[in-house]
Amino acid sequence: MPRFAGVDYIHIDSLFSEQELLVRQTARQFVEDRVMPLVRDCFREARFPKELIPEFGQLGFLGANLEGYGCAGMSNVEYGLVMQELERADSGIRSFASVQGGLVMYPILTYGSEEQKDRWLPKLQTGEAIGCFGLTEPGFGSNPAGMQTRAVKQGNCWNINGEKTWITNGTLADVAIVWARTDEGIRGFLVEKGMDGYSSSDIHGKMSMRVSVTSSLALSDCRVPASAMLPGAKGLKAPLSCLSQARYGIGWGALGAAMDCYETARQYTIVRKQFDDRPIASHQLVQEKLAWMITEITKGQLLAVHAGRLKDEGKIEPAHISMLKLNNVAMALECARLSRDLLGANGIVDEYPIMRHMCNLETVKTYEGTEHIHKLVIGERVTGIAAYK
Ligand SMILES: Cc1cc2nc3c(=O)[nH]c(=O)nc-3n(C[C@H](O)[C@H](O)[C@H](O)COP(=O)(O)OP(=O)(O)OC[C@H]3O[C@@H](n4cnc5c(N)ncnc54)[C@H](O)[C@@H]3O)c2cc1C
Repeated sequence: MPRFAGVDYIHIDSLFSEQELLVRQTARQFVEDRVMPLVRDCFREARFPKELIPEFGQLGFLGANLEGYGCAGMSNVEYGLVMQELERADSGIRSFASVQGGLVMYPILTYGSEEQKDRWLPKLQTGEAIGCFGLTEPGFGSNPAGMQTRAVKQGNCWNINGEKTWITNGTLADVAIVWARTDEGIRGFLVEKGMDGYSSSDIHGKMSMRVSVTSSLALSDCRVPASAMLPGAKGLKAPLSCLSQARYGIGWGALGAAMDCYETARQYTIVRKQFDDRPIASHQLVQEKLAWMITEITKGQLLAVHAGRLKDEGKIEPAHISMLKLNNVAMALECARLSRDLLGANGIVDEYPIMRHMCNLETVKTYEGTEHIHKLVIGERVTGIAAYK
């Protein structure tokens, strides 16, 4: 049995089916047995544990909520629970699965040709092939509509020039989904490792997401065949639809990081004694922090379950997902800060996971739409007025 018993204040498990609980148990066991023993050293060494990739595939965690081509066909709640458990270990571990499934396999399945699907999806599902998603550029992060990467049709090829940066799994990737401006609007291209004119390099010195590979991609007269274009992806709404998939998973994943911080602090404060040999958990100010955390985690769980059910029914909207991502990431970051405080000096060492989660969550707050951008999405949804510019 996993050591982690879960965080369930209001019988949240009663909202899950047997199958959903089984999937969560499988992910939890994998995290306990295979990820937790490695993750602190991986963070120290800034190393992604590539040796786990085949197991991600065997357990069905890659493209988990997609149908066909060997994918597990999980419900969106089951998929969310997997993301929650992975991020309880580390946001970088969850990012690997989010990018592979939500940002690479999803666009190939949704917008790709039959040939592209047959070629890539089975291998991406098993982890034999790795993918990355190149949208962000050095000058265009929150505003991808301004992208400068350009693809020009030349006979039977597209000639791509540009630069992408902050790309998760970039140097690991056998295939990059590169978004570029063309005469017919923004289009997506499958650019393969080793193609002439395509190179990638890692970004070093990260204090956050050290377990995840983050890279820059350079395209210099990179000529890809016409068949490399995703035929169904037309305009910015295509990459944005992929972001909705990944953001949904982040909304669940952040719960995992929050739970790990909360549970670490709860157990610590019961054992740690100060003033007359009393546990620090006996102090009202300490309990106030624990009460805030468990209340906010519980609200976040309810939001995630409801969003998952809406997604399964095909009723979820991007603005709903913005609220899920915005709320749960901000909540998780605050849980990390409060938990760090409750551990005192011990809160800053990597013997405990809190500082690692806190550093990771600073990225999670920024990527896949910053906190500001999600507030603007919600603002537009409730007023009908777009305030991005
Ligand atoms: C570890 C990591 C992994 C990543 N992985 C990927 C990946 O796989 N693929 C990919 O394409 N990208 C990836 N990204 C990039 C990420 O999506 C961008 O960093 C993000 O979109 C923000 O862009 P930016 O960093 O350029 O910040 P900016 O857009 O420059 O924003 C800086 C600040 O200005 C604020 N701001 C900007 N515009 C507005 C506005 N209109 N109103 C109010 N505030 C505003 C932002 O909210 C933010 O606070 C990753 C980033 C990191 C850190």
